[in-house]
Amino acid sequence: MERLADEVFYIMFLNRSALLNLNLYLAGYVQQLSLDFETEDGDDGGTVDLHKLLKREGVLRRKSPPEWARRAVFFRDRGCCVACHRDLTGLLSLLSKKNFDHMVPLAQGGLNDITNLQLLCDKCNLEKSDKTVATSSQYQLWYG
Ligand SMILES: [Zn+2]
Repeated sequence: MERLADEVFYIMFLNRSALLNLNLYLAGYVQQLSLDFETEDGDDGGTVDLHKLLKREGVLRRKSPPEWARRAVFFRDRGCCVACHRDLTGLLSLLSKKNFDHMVPLAQGGLNDITNLQLLCDKCNLEKSDKTVATSSQYQLWYG
């Protein structure tokens, strides 16, 4: 099962449009999360304190993506802004977090998850703001 999950992730991770749809679907659940529920069952059978997870009702707190996630997104998006295709390879340090945009903004119920991240240049990230849900379905060719 773990190997199958790895293979599905490998295929899906390349498709930003599919990931955007997945994250829009999941955002519907996040937006229903309420601070009234103090605890909820976690995966490990423990409890999850929603006050630690939520900034406010239906909105998760921002968490910086870990370096492995930034590397994976940078590699998938081939070092270019997905909106304007500006080459960021010479401009962007992987340590910089500001160019890793949430396709579905946290304010719209988006997740702090690698499947919700994309690479944007400063200008496009500023224009997108936290009200816009967007990605590009244009992909760079692997050839030519
Ligand atoms: Zn751009």
